[in-house]
Amino acid sequence: AAKGEGGDRCRTFEPEMRRTSLHRNRLASSMREALAVADQGDPDGFYLVYQPIHRLSEERPIAGYEALLRWQSPILGAVSPADFIPVAERAGLIVPLGDWVMRRACRQLAAWLSISEADPDLFVGVNVAPQQLYQPDFVDKVLACLDSTGLAPHNLKIEVTEGSILDNAYVAANVLNALRAQGVRLSIDDFGTGFSSLSYLANFQFSELKIDRSFVQGMIANPRTREVVKTIVTLGQGLGMSVVAEGVERSEELALLEAIGCHLVQGYLLGRPMGPDQILPPLRAELVCG
Ligand code: C2E
Ligand code: MG
Ligand code: MG
Ligand code: MG
Repeated sequence: AAKGEGGDRCRTFEPEMRRTSLHRNRLASSMREALAVADQGDPDGFYLVYQPIHRLSEERPIAGYEALLRWQSPILGAVSPADFIPVAERAGLIVPLGDWVMRRACRQLAAWLSISEADPDLFVGVNVAPQQLYQPDFVDKVLACLDSTGLAPHNLKIEVTEGSILDNAYVAANVLNALRAQGVRLSIDDFGTGFSSLSYLANFQFSELKIDRSFVQGMIANPRTREVVKTIVTLGQGLGMSVVAEGVERSEELALLEAIGCHLVQGYLLGRPMGPDQILPPLRAELVCG
């Protein structure tokens, strides 16, 4: 079926197909080819989209953006990150791919910041896979990237999941502490879905916690979920962290989050991931609020 379809069709793979090694191998070799041509420029068919994170105050000004990777494969069509990220991780391709994401996202934010009305505290959030974090020169790479783009450390937010820390908490702590000491923002992504959330909060200096969208989307129907969200917000804020609610799709969810006192929100209701050309230069908060 794959051959007959046009290259511009977005394909979702059947669960069984996703798991087959044949399919994984095809994805891996296509990605390898895409990265091989990258050399100087961008890997073939890969690009970033940006989703706004809004402050939940009067005019809902934008605090920053999360960079999300997209792949339009010339052979396979549009492939979801849920399909290609795990394959890239297993095939040893996530490091070169992730390096490119970091540089591309920083360059984009630097371009936005060069507009004089831009909020100098805007951030770009970059998702970082465990293998990236565990590279001995990861901190150096991040600092080199900030240096070459002219971004301040607080303009960059690194998003890791609980799983990233699980493999080797000692090494992860060293890397994260070094980044934190430099002033880079650190975010714990998909919070609440992993195994050791609470010990990580106690032992790591994250600047931000992102409540997984499964909690946000369960809030309306389930009062117990609502209580869990409320408690996570209080807990995060009590530890001096910013708390972001992910996956806000409905105005009822937004109203509830506002009532709970969550200050930051991300989701289709407020803004979908967009190409950089669709994003207007974000203004300083005081200009947005008038
Ligand atoms: P994530 O980091 O938790 O990113 C949030 C995901 O939720 C994104 O999916 C985003 O498009 C989606 N989302 C945002 N708002 C809503 C909403 O209101 N409703 C729903 N249903 N979904 C919403 P996406 O872009 O498909 O990415 C999926 C995951 O792939 C990301 O989850 C992240 O773990 C991974 N990923 C994406 N880009 C990168 C990357 O550059 N590097 C690495 N290592 N992983 C990445
Ligand atoms: Mg993320
Ligand atoms: Mg997330
Ligand atoms: Mg996720």
